[in-house]
Amino acid sequence: METTRFAPSPNGPLHLGHAYSAIVAHDLAQERGGRFLLRIEDIDGTRSRSELAAEFRADLAWLELQWTEVAAQSARLARYEEAAESLRTMGLLYPCSCTRAEIAAAARKRGPEGPVYPGTCRGRSADPAEAAWRLDVGRALRLTGPLSWEDEVAGPQEARPELLGDVVLMRKDAPASYHLAVTLDDAADGVTLVTRGRDLFAATHIHRLLQALLDLPVPRWHHHSLLVEPDGRKLAKRRGSPGLDERRLAGEDGSALADALRAHRFPAGISLSEA
Ligand code: GLU
Repeated sequence: METTRFAPSPNGPLHLGHAYSAIVAHDLAQERGGRFLLRIEDIDGTRSRSELAAEFRADLAWLELQWTEVAAQSARLARYEEAAESLRTMGLLYPCSCTRAEIAAAARKRGPEGPVYPGTCRGRSADPAEAAWRLDVGRALRLTGPLSWEDEVAGPQEARPELLGDVVLMRKDAPASYHLAVTLDDAADGVTLVTRGRDLFAATHIHRLLQALLDLPVPRWHHHSLLVEPDGRKLAKRRGSPGLDERRLAGEDGSALADALRAHRFPAGISLSEA
């Protein structure tokens, strides 16, 4: 059965871009007689606000979507640690105590997510208590060999995790990184089609590598275009587009809004990115 998901982080209210993403995932599941899951990605303890999860549910109900909610990330921490431990045992993680500024100064390449970590701590012995844990991507790839993945929108892809470099899998300030948590969760939740915005396209190179290393099932992906502002930048609540909660509380018709988004009729100034 096709299983899609919407996986918002409760760091701030949902906006139209989130609504679009949820609708794409919901409708793909519905067309295929499948399931649409909601997973609250509240792993970032410093930024997560627990009261927002209830708002998210109210927003989805207002859009007249139906979903099945699965466990929030905060309930799955032991799984993340277990997976990190098996990667450590395989010799694929190393502790890194570099600061953001040190990385920015030392990086020679820029990747899809910013400066690519130049591997400064690889082969050193940073104090694990003070460190984040990074994946040794070169070593991991030597184990797995070449990998590929399938995007329903962009077509077949060769996995190129080296573009992102030795990403952090276990953070100093949070129980796990986005990359590790989302890969484990999608597998645990039986997601067959990972539906999300194109801004997370490059992250998939790392997720595909983690699936191979951790022996997880390999889903397909559907990275949809993003809603953008007139300057081409991704829609963001802080730049003034009202949140879904504001629209809902102002009495706007959620079902009509959902239909407008389905038909690509967007409020003035908002459009769908080309790429
Ligand atoms: N939690 C992520 C976000 O809110 C989305 C993760 C995903 O869809 O893979 O940006």
